[in-house]
Amino acid sequence: MSQANSAAETSAAVLGLGPMGAAIARALIDTGGKVSVWNRSAAKTAPLSEAGAIAAATATEAVTAHPIVIVCVADYAAARSVVEPATTALAEKTLVNLTNGTPQQARELSAWAAAHNIDYLDGGIMAVPTGVGQPGSFVLYSGDERAFAGARRTLTALGNAVYVGPDAGAAANYDLALLSAMYGMFAGTRHAVELVGEDGAPQFIEQLLVPFLTAMAGAVTTDASDSPLSMQATALANIVAASEGVHAASQSHLIGPMHEIYAAGAGAQLPQIVRKLAAGLG
Ligand code: NAP
Repeated sequence: MSQANSAAETSAAVLGLGPMGAAIARALIDTGGKVSVWNRSAAKTAPLSEAGAIAAATATEAVTAHPIVIVCVADYAAARSVVEPATTALAEKTLVNLTNGTPQQARELSAWAAAHNIDYLDGGIMAVPTGVGQPGSFVLYSGDERAFAGARRTLTALGNAVYVGPDAGAAANYDLALLSAMYGMFAGTRHAVELVGEDGAPQFIEQLLVPFLTAMAGAVTTDASDSPLSMQATALANIVAASEGVHAASQSHLIGPMHEIYAAGAGAQLPQIVRKLAAGLG
């Protein structure tokens, strides 16, 4: 995807060079674009300078050189402390905040940006740092649609750029929704490993659990008419019966909500819910 961009189209400043910010900067550098980098701890700019980026002494210096500014730091308080000193330089530029946060935090930062004549996009990176810019990775964006259209070619260097709506909080909402599903998978994995035992866990995970979860991902969007609720409720009851001694947190996170879904008979509706969500991304 990145090969489609010319160097001029991928010019951007990157503020924040933790594992994710550094991966973002590298993905942009790899397209041949002009990239300025800044980080609170200046030492983190060194490997990126060697890779071709311009190390800025201040966030304002980095911002001044580019129409698009990406900030990716630990949380919104940090994001604010990074961008606020550069407020004047950010005017009439596009600020893309890829820091994880809540929809409310995104809306508040968007309002701050609007008050200072800054075009604002909020985003959620649905990849680990090594996946940034790789096939299959995607980043969610919401906020100023015109700013998204203008920045899209640059942002595509980070992965497929998916715009989810003008509400600045929408990307954070989808991001947290997807992470919620992911953490459910992790919680289930912990429960599974407790059932199997630590000794056999590595082989179990590699040879059985990953292939099974991969195959089952499709079940989220297929109708479950050949897997009736009564059958699934029995399997859940059997899991509970066999899970004596399994960490209580794993059980309550995994089994409690599923019991509620099946007790309400809503399990069969899950595919429809998923389709509705997917249509919203359209
Ligand atoms: P991180 O530990 O969340 O963030 C590290 C970055 O935040 C560093 O640049 C650090 O600067 C900066 N920072 C922290 N507090 C600061 C403050 N008060 N003022 C200025 N800068 C501050 O690691 P990360 O992996 O790079 O994550 C960045 C964002 O990407 C997070 O919102 C995370 O949720 C998101 N994300 C990460 C992953 C992942 O797998 N890593 C995946 C998806 C999304 P210093 O170097 O000076 O400490």
